[in-house]
Amino acid sequence: MNWTPTRAAALTRLAEFAPLAGQHYRAGRNEDRGVGQHVQVSGLSPYLRHRLLLDQEVVQAVILRHEPNTAAKFIEEVLWRSYFKGWLEHHPGVWTNYINDCARLRKSVADDKLLRAAYSEAIYARTGIAPFDAWVRELRATGYLHNHARMWFASIWIFTLGLPWQLGAQWFHYHLLDGDAASNTLSWRWVAGLHTRGKTYLARADNIKRYTAQRFAGDRGPDSYAGLERLASSAPALTEDPAVTEQHTPNWPEHHTPQPGGRVGLLLHDEDMALHAPIQPVAVGMLAPQRVGRRRASRLVSRFGLQAASSTLTEANQKLQLKNAPTLLRTRSATRHWMQETKLDRLMVPYMPIGPSFHRMQWVLNQAAELGIETEVLFRDIDGLAWPHARRGFFALRKHIPDILEQLHLKTPVQTELIPV
Ligand SMILES: Cc1cc2nc3c(=O)[nH]c(=O)nc-3n(C[C@H](O)[C@H](O)[C@H](O)COP(=O)(O)OP(=O)(O)OC[C@H]3O[C@@H](n4cnc5c(N)ncnc54)[C@H](O)[C@@H]3O)c2cc1C
Repeated sequence: MNWTPTRAAALTRLAEFAPLAGQHYRAGRNEDRGVGQHVQVSGLSPYLRHRLLLDQEVVQAVILRHEPNTAAKFIEEVLWRSYFKGWLEHHPGVWTNYINDCARLRKSVADDKLLRAAYSEAIYARTGIAPFDAWVRELRATGYLHNHARMWFASIWIFTLGLPWQLGAQWFHYHLLDGDAASNTLSWRWVAGLHTRGKTYLARADNIKRYTAQRFAGDRGPDSYAGLERLASSAPALTEDPAVTEQHTPNWPEHHTPQPGGRVGLLLHDEDMALHAPIQPVAVGMLAPQRVGRRRASRLVSRFGLQAASSTLTEANQKLQLKNAPTLLRTRSATRHWMQETKLDRLMVPYMPIGPSFHRMQWVLNQAAELGIETEVLFRDIDGLAWPHARRGFFALRKHIPDILEQLHLKTPVQTELIPV
């Protein structure tokens, strides 16, 4: 797979995969065939993560080609992303706690020789567990891992190598092109037995052999099953203070259709790069993606974020013929300056979910208020329909999928050229 960070490439990938989202996906989705061979799954996650594609566009492309039952599994997986994002909105303490734990554990890695050695062995593919080391190399080389590989990886990290889950989640976050605060952190917690409390995921040698298409079938060397005999034979659930998962009532914007009027700007960010807004803007800005240029972020992740941002800005310029060139905003002062220089009366901003940029967005909204700029937070329909059902387990949301799809009116062809002119 090759992830060109543009909306055009995302649409091409969607068009190629949509015919395969039925039986082909259902039958083969669990098989991890290795680098360049992930043909059973869509590979759309880096695009969905940044909203170069909207979730509802993906679901629609599939619904228009398949009977609902045939594509149900794929649609459900797309809704898992909504579920995790909605769940984190209801439990923001999980994110804060994870960030604090990461800071504490980074210090431990610096101070504790044994921890540092075990952590380095894991992230530099030197554990001697050949499939695990191969996944590390694959992730470093491509920015992607198959879902099953992610599950085995996280399980081995926690239960065989005995490393803190938070360090694994952080390493994934900065190496996956699709690295996402909700899907990543909550999947790691799920493997560890913290999400569905007490229920863990144990990676087993026979399961790895069965679903890796014989690609580690050599007797020895880097591509073998060497080391699988060391896998933990049990996965006792981790525990934590129940206060961490205290439920919170999110403060989501009310649904309304803003009316045109005044000079309106659109400020995008790495959680939502969709050029999809109810009013045509006179200026478009983009907050520099959070992972760009971070010391911990892989070069692939940094480059993907930056190029996705600049390709979106180029597209905005071509489509909207803006007088002010669309701008990538790298600093707080540049953001404030952009709002002043473009003489905005109003600012449209896609909703910023809980995650690493949440506070940065609060700052932007405060600055806009200080400058007398009215803000309209754009809340995507699918989020507004799915997130309220993501308070507890996935199954509570799953039973609403037919209603959610109905309310999105996906049977009517979608307008993919985004901002209405
Ligand atoms: C430890 C761990 C960490 C993960 N970290 C991330 C992450 O940072 N970002 C991320 O997008 N996904 C994450 N996932 C979920 C899943 O592995 C990826 O979404 C999926 O592998 C992406 O590949 P794909 O696009 O080919 O998926 P497909 O199987 O083709 O699915 C289509 C889309 O549905 C969504 N999806 C599918 N499975 C899941 C799932 N289990 N949870 C949430 N969404 C899903 C994704 O948006 C995906 O692009 C993680 C899973 C695990 C076990």
